[in-house]
Amino acid sequence: MAEPLPDIVFRNVRVLDPSRGEDAVRDLAVAGGRFAPASVAIAAGAPAVDASGLAAAPGLRDVHVHFRDPGVPAAETTATGAAAAAAGGFTCVTVMPNTSPAGDSPEWVRSQAAAQVPVRIAPSACITAGRAGRAPAALEELAAAGAVAFTDDGSYVADAAVMREAMLRAAALGRPVMQHAVDPVLLAGGVIRDCPAARRFSLPAMPPEAETEAVRRDIALCRETGCALHVQHVSCAGTVELLRAAQAEGLPVTGEATPHHLFFCAGDIPADDAAWKMAPPLGSAADREALRAAVAEGVLSMFATDHAPHPAASKLGGFAKGANGIVGLETALAATWTAMVLSCGMAPLDWAARWTSAPARLIGDPPPSLADGAPADFTVFDPSAEWTVDPDRFMSMSRNTPFAGVALRARPLLTVCNGRITHGSAFLR
Ligand SMILES: [Zn+2]
Repeated sequence: MAEPLPDIVFRNVRVLDPSRGEDAVRDLAVAGGRFAPASVAIAAGAPAVDASGLAAAPGLRDVHVHFRDPGVPAAETTATGAAAAAAGGFTCVTVMPNTSPAGDSPEWVRSQAAAQVPVRIAPSACITAGRAGRAPAALEELAAAGAVAFTDDGSYVADAAVMREAMLRAAALGRPVMQHAVDPVLLAGGVIRDCPAARRFSLPAMPPEAETEAVRRDIALCRETGCALHVQHVSCAGTVELLRAAQAEGLPVTGEATPHHLFFCAGDIPADDAAWKMAPPLGSAADREALRAAVAEGVLSMFATDHAPHPAASKLGGFAKGANGIVGLETALAATWTAMVLSCGMAPLDWAARWTSAPARLIGDPPPSLADGAPADFTVFDPSAEWTVDPDRFMSMSRNTPFAGVALRARPLLTVCNGRITHGSAFLR
């Protein structure tokens, strides 16, 4: 078990607290596992560390991770996934139910939530029984067991009648549905978006309509059922327009952007290498610009990694044969800081909100805060650190990432989850 954070004062740290709109350089103190006035911590004998040039935010939250447990322990386990999350600055993650067996039982939900690991797990659960798309799962039992949302992630619920019934029941439970919005019929076997690599290697391309038409249908169901709809890993400019219109209409529709869709575009794909293969695939440069603008604007109110570990053998065979997905937890903070704050001029406080208050709201949590009295659950990072991604140093068991060798800025130094040090204890010595 992670060691408790001793009473301490971080001198002159840049506090980014979206819950209170605070972006200020000040002393941040912890006493008895909670934030406290620095004077109180000092009177209690807390040592001070110089945190000049560093930043602190509430512990990051990721509403979209795959820990492959149970199912593929060679890819990831709950323990290694949680270690990767802590190393990335995260204190709460929502695991996806596309495990083996699928997460469609109350026992699965309870076992995920009860895992004794260095990150809080707020599990989702399946929309449909067995993730088979044929009938809704026992949503009421899953919610009672602690499921914070319903999703068949990895698969789109193609049957609109099944989705409608699930959304009516999820609405009654006050839980959102999170859709992997890729219509397999329109996808037609596409593994990449149209780009030079697709043409060079004769790879079947995904039309953006495979995403936008799926989102269009789900927005109509949201309007009809009143169920909160969350669109996972948005990749197309057209989807952004649909979400913007739905939000303007007042519908409870949210969307997430992944670090990789914000950082890369399909034109960056250098070879027929499945390290670059994910679902949905990287979009065009125009799509990336639309996603970045939507994140800055708040139409896409949160980041999410879609951390998808695979053993090396599953990534052989290029785009045609390699598995979908990349690991993301240990590059997420830096990739989003680099792409959004440094490249696009996004306000750091807005960036922090995309990783903390917005994902908390989606799963029904109060906004995490650095206010005095709140539990010490936070991340200290160095916004100016420059580093090059070396997958061999990941805590994750898997190495599948297109960020290998990429230079990024900003790096997590210390993660404290509910008063316990889960990453970076060396920083305090
Ligand atoms: Zn997905």
